[in-house]
Amino acid sequence: MATLIESCPFCNSGHLHIAHHLISHSVVCQNCKSKGPQRRVLAEAVLDWNHSSRVLRSIQREKMRPAQFKPQQRAAADSERLMN
Ligand SMILES: [Zn+2]
Repeated sequence: MATLIESCPFCNSGHLHIAHHLISHSVVCQNCKSKGPQRRVLAEAVLDWNHSSRVLRSIQREKMRPAQFKPQQRAAADSERLMN
C-alpha cells in the first residue's frame, strides 16, 4: 500500500526526501530542511510526518479563523477532523 507524503507544513513544499539512518527513517523537506520524526518502520515515519503536517496545518487554520466563529461550526469542524 503506497502512502502519500503530505507537503511540508512549514513551507508547503512538496519536495520531500526520505532519509535513511542506521536503523530508522525520517521524512526531510528539501526546501526548508524540516525533519520529521525518526521511525524504525518507514511507513510509520511517513504516517507521523503526515500526522504532524495535519496538526500544524489545523493550528495555522485556527489562527487565521475570524473571531466570530460560531460554536456549531466548530463542532462540525471538530467531528470532521476526527473522521480524518
Ligand atoms: Zn519545508
